[in-house]
Amino acid sequence: MLSNPPRYRIGLAANRAHQDDTNSALVRLFHGGGQAAIETWLQPELIVVGRTLDAMRNHGLLQDYAAIERFPYGREGGLMRLVSRIVDTDPARSLDAMIYLMDPVDPSSNFPEALALKRQCVVHGKPFLSTLAGAREWLELEAIAAGALPDPTLDASFDFANESIALIAHDAMKTSMLALAEKHFDLLDQFAMRYATGTTGGLLNKLAQKIKGEDAGRHWVKPFLSGPLGGDAQIAELILDRQCRRVLFLEDPHVARQHEADIQLLERAARTVTDYASCSSEAKGVERWLSLMALRGRRAAGMALG
Ligand code: PGA
Repeated sequence: MLSNPPRYRIGLAANRAHQDDTNSALVRLFHGGGQAAIETWLQPELIVVGRTLDAMRNHGLLQDYAAIERFPYGREGGLMRLVSRIVDTDPARSLDAMIYLMDPVDPSSNFPEALALKRQCVVHGKPFLSTLAGAREWLELEAIAAGALPDPTLDASFDFANESIALIAHDAMKTSMLALAEKHFDLLDQFAMRYATGTTGGLLNKLAQKIKGEDAGRHWVKPFLSGPLGGDAQIAELILDRQCRRVLFLEDPHVARQHEADIQLLERAARTVTDYASCSSEAKGVERWLSLMALRGRRAAGMALG
């Protein structure tokens, strides 16, 4: 069952390269439907790190929006405090999602607090949105859950027959991936191409054979090498080439990962093409995301029928 969004509390930060320019990712996040998603549909509480809020004020973004709390500058611990809010269980303090527009060549994107912010979002099942495309899409889908109509400027990216998607799951998450793929098979089946790391891909093709029949399901996903042997890096190249926009990566944050560098490489690839790609890392968010993608499709079809 899809529930309407509660009044979210969302953390917001952006690395410098994504703040200052009039065409920066921060500015583009609030273009068009992004601003309406916040002001009209979601009306979240925003907790914004100091320099990012300064930039918003300079650009005149959300000027009349009252529910904004200022957190300290990054160098004074603003990002560190956000990690604590992600893990907090007190409903008066806890963050529901984090938008952190990351510039992969900014050293602060690799500071411990940046890594911990992402990891604790995965541990606590909260969306961590580190690219412009991922954050914009999340706002669009959550606004739709709240009753908004689809933003037509995003229609091209929801034309799944021209899109591909990557599916990756660590060992402890493979059962969850199969359950999600089975539940949302019709949606995933609409994509032009599905890619996966080796073992995940083999399991998904077995599932597809069960659902579509042996021949039709055999090549449902294209498996690359297994993650530890470099499959993540192969998928990263597709992202950098703008051949694959969305990555569903069910991570296990509780084990030491021999190929940690490869996992981070894949995320950094998505951040390198921030206006294009997104990477979702935890099962709860992926489940809601897939359901809302289907809902957007139904609502767009309803609009087309008039
Ligand atoms: P696998 O790779 O699908 O080959 O198991 C996933 C991973 O561990 O990164």
